[in-house]
Amino acid sequence: MKFITFETKDGLTQWGMVQQDGLIQCLGKQQPYSSLLSLIEGGPQALSEIQSGLANKDLPLYNLSEVKIKAPYYPRKNIVCVGKNYKEHALEMSDQDYQAIPEFPVLFTKPYSSIIEHKGSVHSYPEITQELDYEGELAIIIGKKGINISKEEAHEYIFGYSIINDISARDLQKQHLQFFKGKSLDTFAPFGPVIVHRSAVPNPQDLQIKTFVNDEERQNASTKDMLFSIAEIIEVISRGMTVEPGDIIATGTPSGVGKGFKPPKFLKAGDTVRIEIDGIGRLENKVI
Ligand code: MG
Repeated sequence: MKFITFETKDGLTQWGMVQQDGLIQCLGKQQPYSSLLSLIEGGPQALSEIQSGLANKDLPLYNLSEVKIKAPYYPRKNIVCVGKNYKEHALEMSDQDYQAIPEFPVLFTKPYSSIIEHKGSVHSYPEITQELDYEGELAIIIGKKGINISKEEAHEYIFGYSIINDISARDLQKQHLQFFKGKSLDTFAPFGPVIVHRSAVPNPQDLQIKTFVNDEERQNASTKDMLFSIAEIIEVISRGMTVEPGDIIATGTPSGVGKGFKPPKFLKAGDTVRIEIDGIGRLENKVI
């Protein structure tokens, strides 16, 4: 099951399920689930209600190529991000200093206001940053409320998976000591285009992530190389802190970011960044 939020030719925002044939079965009129977030927040009950309604022949169909894809949804809280979660990336960010490999997950957040949709434009802010960078990442979508979740039960708390580009202004990250500002400018979180239900992702720790800038491959790694697994990340984040349906966790980026090259290959206006994750999809955004 691949879920998508989109805008019709009449300017209406709808959500639905992408079928194999490239058609979207529109589910937005199934009350009370008017948005993809309401489906996720509705938990397993909402999902089974929607599934049992799929046979309804009256559901409108839209051609994927004829709608405008929107961000899947805007979460109620900041996106929680894991930094330095791939060894080679931790090393490239710190000139091969092995001390840089974290003992505990590095955590920071990005506000929902930084989210944009597939094909939306990333602003380069040349007056604010000279070190604009990309980070292709697998995103976890939480599907069930919980606290103190053990890694053994973590997968039950996942609704599905998506893609996030954790756009980063490296100079701002450094200037302000914490990552927050340099990661949070408007348009710095391309998200989507779809959310794939966990039932369609048999092993999320064995997915290939690739990032291309203007068709040049920059990142290519497997999620099996994460320092902290998806289950461990959920265990650590939920210690004493409730996670809720719709919360988004970005699981970190592999090596090959612009800052890791010598000389660095930062983004500039006109560049196109494309992130591909096996079985999840392809997220593409242009820098302006
Ligand atoms: Mg990141």
